[in-house]
Amino acid sequence: MSDLTKMSAAQLAKAIAGKEASAVEVATAHLDRIDAVDERVHAFLHVDREGALAAAERVDKGEVTGPLAGVPIAVKDVIATKGVPTTAASKILEGWRPPYDATLVERLRAAGTVMLGKTNMDEFAMGSSTEYSAYGPTNNPWDLGRIPGGSGGGSAAALAAYEAPLAIGTDTGGSIRQPGAVTGTVGAKPTYGGTSRYGLIAFSSSLDTPGPCARNVEDAALLHSVIAGHDPRDSTSIPQPVPDVVGAARLGASGDLSGVKLGLVKEFAGDGSEPGVLSAFHEGLEALVKLGAEVVEVSCPHFEYALPAYYLIAPSEASSNLARFDGVRYGLRVGDDGNRSLEEVMSLTREAGFGPEVKRRIILGTYALSSGYYDAYYGQAQKVRTLITRDFQSAFERVDVLVSPTTPFVAFPFGSRTSDPYQMYLADLFTIPTNLYGGPAISVPCGLSEGLPVGFQVMAPTLADDRMYRVAAALESAVGTLTPPAL
Ligand code: GLN
Repeated sequence: MSDLTKMSAAQLAKAIAGKEASAVEVATAHLDRIDAVDERVHAFLHVDREGALAAAERVDKGEVTGPLAGVPIAVKDVIATKGVPTTAASKILEGWRPPYDATLVERLRAAGTVMLGKTNMDEFAMGSSTEYSAYGPTNNPWDLGRIPGGSGGGSAAALAAYEAPLAIGTDTGGSIRQPGAVTGTVGAKPTYGGTSRYGLIAFSSSLDTPGPCARNVEDAALLHSVIAGHDPRDSTSIPQPVPDVVGAARLGASGDLSGVKLGLVKEFAGDGSEPGVLSAFHEGLEALVKLGAEVVEVSCPHFEYALPAYYLIAPSEASSNLARFDGVRYGLRVGDDGNRSLEEVMSLTREAGFGPEVKRRIILGTYALSSGYYDAYYGQAQKVRTLITRDFQSAFERVDVLVSPTTPFVAFPFGSRTSDPYQMYLADLFTIPTNLYGGPAISVPCGLSEGLPVGFQVMAPTLADDRMYRVAAALESAVGTLTPPAL
């Protein structure tokens, strides 16, 4: 058997089902790889060796079957895993072991996947580089001196470092797609409500969307099909069948896009992107045209207000969601010496437990929601959100999907964007509009710029997740997957 860590999830599932490899062998190969490289990459906050081997044994004994039986997976540490530490990369949740599994974790287990551990991220999923993790950053396998994106940098880096063939991310403003882009991997944000938020530690509830991360489009679609679908425990979950994303990925891989109309967003065409990103993106676009797609320029005039609107809506929701971390119910408690009031203990706990970016968001959100400012900030941002949704809807009357680079720049060096929050926020310039609208979007590699990966974003109408997989798989069939330098 060739190197098990280099195989795709689809290949591993097939090899295990056909008894060419055992699930324990596959799990061990990945755990050994983590031992060998994770000191340098730091993709994982917690490795569950025992749990992974036990799950793999159950697969080998035939006690667990399912479409991904025996395939290892890494899960972003913002998702509750029963008995396994879940911190959201925050000191405030250090040592917390959830008493239950998130719905998607239940589904992963039912599908037979083997969870290797929990991946690093920016604290509470706020950031674009993993530099805001309370446990130290993750290093990009393409260049260990550069960021792996964020917030889900750990999940993306685990894939690029061949520590796992599949990973779970969450995307509130780009945290699946942007790390995918800068690590040369594939990351898909499903339609909002298409994947359950039950058991996801909430950041911005009207935007948070769990989704698949993989090294190729078909694997992402396979994982998508396993985790998606209605969940009565999530009030915004969509009670409709999941589109055939796997079929769409296979159709796309056949390389025929005749009749497909790609909308090139005029507002995203030039300014602000690195020239190398733009040229890789345009090469990707030309590859799609060769497969029969037609390119139509579309205007989405309100996209330029997406970033400011997001940075009012997301912090507002965060300020409310993070109120629950009060030193009483979970994790850290500071100053509870019997002499202090409850309020003092809460204040000391939150002061010590939250990092600076999280505090910034809570303060921003509390301000935006406060009486006297609500209409001017939160209210206005909600109106902008409606206008952005209308931009998408009118664009989709003319084209099947919208396309853009995933990010304006390639992986940047550590420390280069931490002094000015706005510079960090710009990493999500092209990904945020989709979150405000609620539609699906995927990032797929389209080439390199100065030796670093560039991501191509495909955005589709809500509920048409299959469409983005078709186009992404077609692009992959033309330009191929990227192979990071050996670690
Ligand atoms: N980078 C964006 C932020 O900091 C998006 C984060 C995310 O999608 N979780 O809010």
